[in-house]
Amino acid sequence: MQSLEDNQKHLEARICAACTAAGRPRADVTLIGVSKTKPIAAVKAAAALGITDLGENYLDEAVTKIEACAELGLTWHFIGRIQSNKTRTIAQHFDWVHTIDRYKIAQRLNDQCPPDKTLNVLVQVNIDADPAKGGASTDGVQALINSITALPKLRVRGLMTILARDTDPGAGYRSMAQLFEQLRLELDSQHQPLWDTLSMGMTADLEQAIAAGSTHIRIGTALFGARDT
Ligand SMILES: *Cc1c(COP(=O)(O)O)cnc(C)c1O
Repeated sequence: MQSLEDNQKHLEARICAACTAAGRPRADVTLIGVSKTKPIAAVKAAAALGITDLGENYLDEAVTKIEACAELGLTWHFIGRIQSNKTRTIAQHFDWVHTIDRYKIAQRLNDQCPPDKTLNVLVQVNIDADPAKGGASTDGVQALINSITALPKLRVRGLMTILARDTDPGAGYRSMAQLFEQLRLELDSQHQPLWDTLSMGMTADLEQAIAAGSTHIRIGTALFGARDT
């Protein structure tokens, strides 16, 4: 088994090469370490290596890790499917929510957000219209974003996607980037200073995502190894 440090070195080399190939500075791309199924010790080890952003899908294990790592000043991203009865816990513990695909969820997160914080949110787009996945349709995304803007506790920063296994990642991520830029022009001008986040790319396809313009890659396996069961 590779050490976390070796994995990080190899991963950093991939990210840097992809940025160079795309003519983008490394600082344009935030690495989110996806620590689902991994123990608290793995998160602490990643933090010690300078990883500041962590992603989690499953709420119960996430809360345990977030509480155990509270003194480390990490930024936590919720990247899993959202059940409406879990919005309060998400709003309390996370800094970012990537997987909003309907107004009702956004409204609950807004209403349940603690008084001293605002939540950064992304709208998940089902860019390849995969019936097995969540995500707003490309047709519905603009109206959804405009309605979220009216919620004072949420800051809608951009878009997120997960591609189906059989979608070509280059084409899928380029479609996302096009939609992201089109929305930048079409959204109310009050959005614009914060319309800065495109969350896409995982272990298998981070190169295609960075080439297309991803600002946040979500990496589990290449960093932490195969998931624990
Ligand atoms: C698990 C997961 C990842 C990380 O996947 P890897 O292929 O292990 O890098 C990224 N994004 C989401 C939404 C995930 O559920």
